[in-house]
Amino acid sequence: MTAIGELAPAKINLGLTLGPTREDGRHLLVTVMQPVALCDRLELSPAPLGSSGDLTVCPGVEGENLVDRAIAKFRELSGWRGAPVRIEIEKKIPVAAGMAGGSADAGAALRLLSRVSAISDPELLMEVAVSLGSDVPGQLQPRRYLASGAGETLRALPEAPPFGILVVPSERELSTAEVFAEADRLGLPRGGGELESRQAEIVGALAAGAAFAPEELLSNDLEPASVSLAPELEWTLDEVRSAGARHAMVCGSGPTAIGLFDDLGGAQAAALALSGRTPVPVAIEPWYPSAFSKRGPERGGGG
Ligand code: ATP
Repeated sequence: MTAIGELAPAKINLGLTLGPTREDGRHLLVTVMQPVALCDRLELSPAPLGSSGDLTVCPGVEGENLVDRAIAKFRELSGWRGAPVRIEIEKKIPVAAGMAGGSADAGAALRLLSRVSAISDPELLMEVAVSLGSDVPGQLQPRRYLASGAGETLRALPEAPPFGILVVPSERELSTAEVFAEADRLGLPRGGGELESRQAEIVGALAAGAAFAPEELLSNDLEPASVSLAPELEWTLDEVRSAGARHAMVCGSGPTAIGLFDDLGGAQAAALALSGRTPVPVAIEPWYPSAFSKRGPERGGGG
């Protein structure tokens, strides 16, 4: 077995509508998941001789890695008995920042395992992804999706034309579970009927391949909860607006803030204007699935 690599693109949520809690305790939601060219890089190689099992190396992330779980679940559900593997992750996606970095790595790990085992059954891979968390299915084959249910029901949307995204990371981490709990405390979830009607409006708005939905459908219902837990976000969002963003919002559960621009140049100028911040903001574009097929999975994007 020779070493093989995959890029794992982060995602942003272009709007998030929060609905009621369903029977399993998770919230219903509707969100547009947009992969972006800010990527971790994973490399799979044989585990060193004498290793007792599979190995994940991920500098900068403490504790059990989602990629460990991805390998274990893949072996369990597929029955694959290949020799132990080592997956090394080079992190570029901010951690616990609402950009689904762990889920992106898990999705990329499953692509690597599929390649090395020659097991490519899409239903099996999806079953493994679903078992790992609601953001992982959308990271199995990253593209623009409308996600519903608790985030695991995916509907492919037309890809967007290029546009610019300013990503403003925070020094703080926010736990997704904590943000959802705060959203409940603040009474933010909408009724099921409203969730459904907004879903239809969002699909309609993006059906012809618009870069993003109009302002009223772009809002992130989790934003007041993230701001409540990280009040400095209010100021960050003002800075993003002042730097020229057409729309500024908290990304997913936060605390990363993002700004949307007509083109990459606008986002780059804003990144320069805010370059005094720590961590430094970055300007990026959407990630396109064709980046995999045209240039190969290892060289398809930034990061
Ligand atoms: P999401 O948007 O999916 O809710 P997030 O972007 O807020 O997630 P992650 O970066 O995925 O958050 O990290 C959440 C937690 O998962 C971290 O605190 C970290 O300890 C753990 N984790 C496990 N594996 C990874 C990984 N490969 N990369 C980043 N974090 C990981």
